Amino acid sequence: MEAKLPIVEDFHSLQGEGAHTGRSAYFIRLASCKVGCPWCDTKASWSPDQYPQISVLKLAENASKAHSNGAAFVVITGGEPLHHNLDPLCKAIRVNESLPIHIETSGVDPLSGDPDWITLSPKKHAPPTVEILKVCQELKIIIHDNDDLDFAEEIAKKANALTNKKPLMFLQPGWNNHKGQNLTFEYIKKNPEWRMSLQIHKWLKIS
Ligand code: SF4
Repeated sequence: MEAKLPIVEDFHSLQGEGAHTGRSAYFIRLASCKVGCPWCDTKASWSPDQYPQISVLKLAENASKAHSNGAAFVVITGGEPLHHNLDPLCKAIRVNESLPIHIETSGVDPLSGDPDWITLSPKKHAPPTVEILKVCQELKIIIHDNDDLDFAEEIAKKANALTNKKPLMFLQPGWNNHKGQNLTFEYIKKNPEWRMSLQIHKWLKIS
């Protein structure tokens, strides 16, 4: 039977966050998240039941069309995309295209889909697996408070101890959070191994 996934939305835009900020990308937002971050900006994605199940072949076709229109890579996000087995979706995308596949995950589940780029955005209350910490290319920690900076250092230390290929390290202030913005700004001034990630799509008011 053809694999299907609950989809909140899929769209062609620019990546707004992290290492690939500003690049043309096709986004697939999967429904379902049980991680429960209080400040989550995609709470509407938490429950998969209210979204249509879309076939992975249809999503791969949409990715292919976006690629024809300039998308340089696919971003699979959520919700928490790894609550699902991503093997069928990634396989379908790879059949016809040489599109790199990126995922954005909190890292609480086993890895699937063999993505080309993993943005790990771990949460204090739901730590990531060692497996994901070992292979992620990018760490992105959301900053609201001083505790988040401590958590960022703890996670970076763990990730760096697990692999010789150190991930890029980003601190991203919580959206509209002035304390987080100031803390991030001042911290990176003194700790240049970190970079700031801003959600440019939100600043520009585009999706
Ligand atoms: S892991 Fe992501 S989608 Fe899930 S609650 Fe946290 S911020 Fe929201």
